[in-house]
Amino acid sequence: MSIAENLKIIKSALPEGVSLVAVSKTKPVADLMEAYETGQRIFGENKIQEMTEKWEQLPKDIEWHMIGHVQRNKVKYMAEYVSLIHGVDSLKLLREINKQASKYQRSISCLLQVHIAEEETKFGLDESEVLALLQSNELRELTHVKVVGLMGMATFTDSEAQIRKEFGGLKELFDQAASIDSEIRILSMGMSGDYKIAIDCGSTMVRIGSSIFGARNYH
Ligand SMILES: *Cc1c(COP(=O)(O)O)cnc(C)c1O
Repeated sequence: MSIAENLKIIKSALPEGVSLVAVSKTKPVADLMEAYETGQRIFGENKIQEMTEKWEQLPKDIEWHMIGHVQRNKVKYMAEYVSLIHGVDSLKLLREINKQASKYQRSISCLLQVHIAEEETKFGLDESEVLALLQSNELRELTHVKVVGLMGMATFTDSEAQIRKEFGGLKELFDQAASIDSEIRILSMGMSGDYKIAIDCGSTMVRIGSSIFGARNYH
């Protein structure tokens, strides 16, 4: 099926209030344009350099989301244009985003990445770190970043119960975070394999790649 057909099917299954990040990492700009032509405006990438190359070539009304792990020394390359950074996992990184955003008189929206999976390799904060960060005085002093929600990735497993448990836990933390900070409104969870469960569990933003663009080729 074509990218346009895939998008149509996925969008028709998304409830109101759930936004779709089309994850276009490794895909050529022609594929992104095909999605763009259907009205898709939010694209997610996991490498800053690749995202910047695409930003330079594509229409300027696209919202670019950084969904990968962010290295502090590369924040400067996306500070001019990025709309949402999903993978923030330290105050140190928020400080750097704040510094780079101030050079463009921007305020950059960020999500705190929460570690909910069993795998050791997935980045993120634990529950108490999220709550401590949201309540820290230093965060309030960073006037060029806005923490607007949480992001998490479930364990890669066939067990739906396991995935539900992890997303359910993240939703609870999200509600708690929203009750202490009124800016918190985005819950980014759900990928091609588990977005329906994520939506059931209260996701407000799904990040879908392979179900739209097909399997990725890594050379
Ligand atoms: C690649 C990626 C996705 C999309 O994965 P698919 O399984 O292709 O939908 C979502 N979120 C993150 C953080 C990713 O790196």
